[in-house]
Amino acid sequence: MATAESPAPAASNTKLSAPQKALRKLGLVRDVDLALHLPLRYEDETQLVPLAQVRDGEVAQFEATVVRSDISYRPRRQWVVEVADGEATCTLRFFHFYPNQQKALAVGQRVRVRGEVRGGFLGRQIVHPSYQPAGGALQEALTPVYPTSAGLPQAYLRKAVVSGLSRALKRGAFDETLPPHLQPRGLWPLDQALHFLHHPAPAVSLATLEDRSHPAWQRLKAEELLAQQLSQWQARREREALRAPILQARAGGLPEQLLGVLPFGLTAAQQRVTQEIAQDLARAQPMHRLLQGDVGSGKTVVAAFAAAVAIESGWQCALMAPTEILAEQHFRKLIDWLEPLLASRERSVAWLTGSQRKKDREAMQARIAQGHAALIVGTHAVIQEGVQFARLGLAIIDEQHRFGVAQRLALRRKIGAEAGESEPHLLMMSATPIPRTLAMSVYADLDVSTIDELPPGRTPVTTRVLPETRRDALITRLQAQVAQGRQAYWVCPLIEESEALDLTNATETHAQLCAALPGVSVGLLHSRMPTAEKKAVMAEFVAGRIGVLVSTTVIEVGVDVPNASLMIIEHAERFGLSQLHQLRGRVGRGSAASACVLLYALGEHGRLSETARERLRAMEETQDGFEIARRDLEIRGPGEFLGARQSGAPLLRFADLLHDQDLLAWARELAPRLWQEDPEKAQRHMERWLGGKSDYLKA
Ligand code: ADP
Ligand code: MG
Repeated sequence: MATAESPAPAASNTKLSAPQKALRKLGLVRDVDLALHLPLRYEDETQLVPLAQVRDGEVAQFEATVVRSDISYRPRRQWVVEVADGEATCTLRFFHFYPNQQKALAVGQRVRVRGEVRGGFLGRQIVHPSYQPAGGALQEALTPVYPTSAGLPQAYLRKAVVSGLSRALKRGAFDETLPPHLQPRGLWPLDQALHFLHHPAPAVSLATLEDRSHPAWQRLKAEELLAQQLSQWQARREREALRAPILQARAGGLPEQLLGVLPFGLTAAQQRVTQEIAQDLARAQPMHRLLQGDVGSGKTVVAAFAAAVAIESGWQCALMAPTEILAEQHFRKLIDWLEPLLASRERSVAWLTGSQRKKDREAMQARIAQGHAALIVGTHAVIQEGVQFARLGLAIIDEQHRFGVAQRLALRRKIGAEAGESEPHLLMMSATPIPRTLAMSVYADLDVSTIDELPPGRTPVTTRVLPETRRDALITRLQAQVAQGRQAYWVCPLIEESEALDLTNATETHAQLCAALPGVSVGLLHSRMPTAEKKAVMAEFVAGRIGVLVSTTVIEVGVDVPNASLMIIEHAERFGLSQLHQLRGRVGRGSAASACVLLYALGEHGRLSETARERLRAMEETQDGFEIARRDLEIRGPGEFLGARQSGAPLLRFADLLHDQDLLAWARELAPRLWQEDPEKAQRHMERWLGGKSDYLKA
């Protein structure tokens, strides 16, 4: 029976050589891993060309006779060899060399030379060519060049891959897993496709290998997408087999009371998603739902509703936010809304963060463990050790994309650990809408609810893109606006290379604005400030006592101050599109007409990069989060769009969600059928691709 699990010989040794260690570091442990390590590109060593036919810039292989061999010292020490093949000559240049090399290339020797030929004004030349005695056998297939790392020579890797491949093929590790009637027409058998990609015939078009349109590549991509879909189907089925508490509110219960105390009615979209969530909660299987909605679409109240359902049913609800500021905002809002309703039930809201005093935290933990805290709000401190829930029925994660993979895995483990006979329901919220294609591929094990409408009375935000040179004029306008009682955010960019520089930047801008805006209270907020100070500044801004808030991107997520109607973003060209959109979402929340100014500075070459220009244009042209997400995907491509944080691991090595949508659709349709018709093959298919990585799929 074929298995994918036997390790390559390297793995069984306890003492590993440097290249063996490098192999492991690349994750090349099992034979199947080696076999699936596919070439980046190929070199053609199947033929010899006459020197006269070689063109500038080409990698060429030819045979010729050494006619000169000298060490020269100008402009620096080098060994210069001239070779001739009867029609033309070529100079070989070496800047590093050993005496025994000189023997191999002595005058009169016939040699086979390979390298990139440069035209140059002194005639053809190759720097550091590879060479061997002339007359050896030529390669019969194109020579693969594999992705590698330091300490792992190409030749060693090539050998390891080739022998891993042949062992795997011999063992039948790449046997067909697709029953014939489920194979699309023209699909190459996997073992053939793999063999081909590692040893392509010389006649093949290099272009179809390079753009991966060759049928062998198509098979690999189909294979990979199917593995991903299979694993998500499996996750869904596993979840369906789990038990969860049935959370259901009675008429006139807590959720209804909550809606009664809100100062507004729910939008149609909020009502719809609230229903979807209520239905999930009332089922005996754990909910696994993503609530997506643009910034400001009102996700918090939906979360409060879900919390109310859980509490009403006698269970605890934990709400986790990525930053303390955000957690604090939720806390205050939820207290306003829910605490008056809870008081009569002798239950309360608890609060957990990293910056809390130990004593306070322990007191909170005790109340959580005893079940006196019905709603627990906080940062990831909520899932840390020492926190034990009496009866966790629902976990809500706000801005889930802001949590790292490790934190998301920790959360899943926590939830798993809390599960006694039943597992808590899970609601994730995100303001970065994921385009449909991506959502269905990456989150097949997730139900998605979408709020596609903003609360009424929102004023559209006018967006202007201005060059830095207009800064002074802008500050003058700002003065007038703040004098009329408006509040503004002034955001300074994060400078990736240096957090220190980033702070100087914000501090300097703060000083500058203080000087330029007499009579205006200008506040400063940045990530290095102690939490208490941050909170104090935020409170001043919320209360309207600060007119202009200078900050780094700490305000990016979720902050809600309806009176703030102006957003100025400095060096907007340095921000990503979704980040700009999130920032802009901080304004336009009140009744005043709002504006967002994107200040840009030209780069070193006096120009904006093409992608920066596209991002700024998108911001000017649309305010629709889904449209923004679509354009972001287009500008960045899916891999980067999702990022390692979002997708957990680079799950798709070969397929591309944007360009391989046909294959994706095929894999989506096929996955459930394969599970049904031949679960053993489905399992095998999944394992040979995902090995130990399947955990990440759940993050
Ligand atoms: P986000 O989806 O970005 O988390 P919030 O939940 O913070 O948005 O809501 C943004 C603002 O809109 C808050 O001030 C909230 O109270 C308000 N809001 C939410 N729903 C409605 C509604 N149906 N009508 C009016 N205002 C609403
Ligand atoms: Mg929010």
